[in-house]
Order: sequence, then structure tokens, then C-alpha cells
Amino acid sequence: MAKEPEKLFSEAAKMSKECNLCREIALKVGDKTEYGAAIICRVGSKKDGWFATLSPKTGSNPEEDFTIQIMPFAHLTHFSQIDLYPKLAENYGRIFSKASRALTEVMMSEKKLEAASKKKDGAASVAIYGKCTTWLEKKEHLHIKIFPFRGNIGQPYTVDSSFGKKQAFRDDSGEEFVKMKPVRKVVLSEERFEELKDKLIRILEG
Ligand SMILES: [Zn+2]
Repeated sequence: MAKEPEKLFSEAAKMSKECNLCREIALKVGDKTEYGAAIICRVGSKKDGWFATLSPKTGSNPEEDFTIQIMPFAHLTHFSQIDLYPKLAENYGRIFSKASRALTEVMMSEKKLEAASKKKDGAASVAIYGKCTTWLEKKEHLHIKIFPFRGNIGQPYTVDSSFGKKQAFRDDSGEEFVKMKPVRKVVLSEERFEELKDKLIRILEG
């Protein structure tokens, strides 16, 4: 194999003291992290496992929307590294499926959404987002977000063909741009956060 890919794939997945996600691996389900997220699920061991948290903030409606983040316990920084650890890859599938199901169950029961809806509002739309890089400035512990795709968060993304179909405008300098609704992250109320945390943990442990 070429030298640089090999170097990346075999990078030591050692715990990093400077990494806030590495510091969360000892936390139990129900515990809170230093930035206010709550652990809602753990799958596998510290070597090959993943954990999921409920984020304290959302860029959408704080009364309805929320984000689940999934991360490996090991300090991996690139999706490509997962392939070196078959059990870790298997456990990714498990936590992704479990988190998706719990999120969907909460969304559907709270808003009475339908399994096959004729209307956008009645549908359970879910998206995931994650990225990785070898650019040192942005090289960080892998984390993937799962969230209801609605409100300001539910806008077409650059990879969607609907984004490419958006009308292009020109600013004063002649540069093209497309319109998007602004997204500002807001903190979920203490009550809502606790309610969601309990619901998600109940489903995930059931
Ligand atoms: Zn880390």
C-alpha cells in the first residue's frame, strides 16, 4: 500500500488528554458530559465500542427537535480507519441503527407522524451528518450527528440535487449565492432535555 494511506489507516487510536470526547468514555448512561450532553447509549468495549449522546442544543425548534451524536470510544479521526477493526465496524452499525430507531420513535410518537405520509409535515424525516479530514487543524475525534430533518435544519444540503436547483442570486460584486434560512443553535430547556433523555434511554435499553 502507498505510504501515506497506510500511515493514516494505522494511526494509533490512543486516548488523547486534550480531546473532550476521549474524556467521556468512562461516563455511564444517564451521566452528563462537561458541555452538557447526556450519554444515552453505549455499545461494545472501550476498544471496539461506540457511545451516543443527546446534545444540549439544536439549530431547529428546541421544543420539538434534538440531535443525537455517536462517537467511537477510541480516538479515531478518519472514517477510513474503522475498516481496520472489524468489531468496531460491526458496532458502528449497531449503535447507528439503535440511535436512529430511538430518535424516530420519539419523533413519531410526539408529533403523531405516519409510516407513509402524503404530507411533508406528517413524515418522519431524518438525516445524518458527519465528516472527517487529515487537515491537522480540523483533525478530530470522529463524531456523527443524527437529527430530525425539519425546520431550519431540514434545508437541502450541498450534496442534495434540490440544493443545485436553488435559484442563484448575485451580490454587488457579481458573485453568485443561494438563499438559506439562518441557523442559530439554542439550548433545550432543562425540562425538555430531561424528558428527551429519559424517553431515549428507555427505548434504547428496552
Ligand atoms: Zn478523542
